[in-house]
Amino acid sequence: MRRTIGSLRSRSAVPPIYQTSVFAFDSLEQVDQAFGGQEGAFVYSRYGNPTVHSLEKALASLERTEAAFVASSGMAALVTAVLSLCSQGDHIVAAQDLYGGTQVLFQRELSRWGIDVTLVDALSIARVEEAIRPSTKLLFVETISNPLMKVVDLTRLASLKRGWGITLMVDNTFASPLLCRPSEFGADLVMESLTKYINGHSDVTSGAIMGSKELIERMRPLHTNFGAVASPFDAWLVQRSLHTLPLRMKQHCHNAALLAEFLATQPKVMKVHYPGLPGHPQHAVASTQLTSPGGMLSFVVEGGCFGAEQVIKRLQRVDFVPSLGGATSTVSHPAKTSHRGMTGMERARLGIDDGLIRVSAGLEEGADICADFAQALAW
Ligand code: PLP
Repeated sequence: MRRTIGSLRSRSAVPPIYQTSVFAFDSLEQVDQAFGGQEGAFVYSRYGNPTVHSLEKALASLERTEAAFVASSGMAALVTAVLSLCSQGDHIVAAQDLYGGTQVLFQRELSRWGIDVTLVDALSIARVEEAIRPSTKLLFVETISNPLMKVVDLTRLASLKRGWGITLMVDNTFASPLLCRPSEFGADLVMESLTKYINGHSDVTSGAIMGSKELIERMRPLHTNFGAVASPFDAWLVQRSLHTLPLRMKQHCHNAALLAEFLATQPKVMKVHYPGLPGHPQHAVASTQLTSPGGMLSFVVEGGCFGAEQVIKRLQRVDFVPSLGGATSTVSHPAKTSHRGMTGMERARLGIDDGLIRVSAGLEEGADICADFAQALAW
């Protein structure tokens, strides 16, 4: 039976959701066109869905790339991209300062596919170059690193990788395309966990890879066959959130800068990691590469784990939430959350202190956030 909504005389003001797993065909010719990849023709939502496709186009345009694919999480997007580019015997050079989940994937999982990973201090171009081998296929860094807010020099990394014919992929989750577009600095691929700033409401898990049409099309078969696709509803929610991304980023960044300056004056705070502070080691690179130093910061409180726990327990408006980029300010404790998959020695080598608290500045009134930290630090 054919079902139509032919009597509808009005046009939807916002994009509708194609909440369907499959599409119906009226002729075999239509089937051939859809399987032949005709623009706007869909077969089955794991192969492609109009709502997800609409988000892919919007994200590619935001990141100034030709194409994008959207997956069910940032990690799903990353695994799909890495396994599309690398095979058994290949090698990856990655920054040692990475989101803990990415570290675990690189150090513990990829070896099972015969892919070798070398983690280096990507702030040093010489170290990165030393690590490159003839089998190196991919160079992977984060724009602003998690959780220490280090800022790598993308222009220098891009000119290095060009000489070696390697693909440069940048996890831009902490910056978002509002603060940095890595493709404009020479990155071949950009990854975003849409779960964070881009969706911004802590109600979706999704991720995307942006890049040239050629690279993205090379990844699509694996994306379809692995099947870690985004649901139409999640894609619709993320696309809705793009309207407010500029306003949200402005407020996140304003509040983070205010809080970083405040925390730097507090006697119990031993160190503040925020690229906007003049003492930050990559302050100069950050000022040229980022339109703002960002909405994320971290700080070390005296007393290690005990000190961190005192602050976290006393915060009244700021919840302990092991994610970032949502509407409300949140804190996380990297040693117990994002980096708990690493040993204490591995964390110490990276400078992830037990007293390190990571803050995602929300959209509240900045003075209220500072007041909450002021009272929480009075222990
Ligand atoms: N990249 C960064 C910088 C992250 O912080 C995270 C998650 O916290 C991810 C990637 C993974 O994203 P997802 O949780 O959407 O898979």
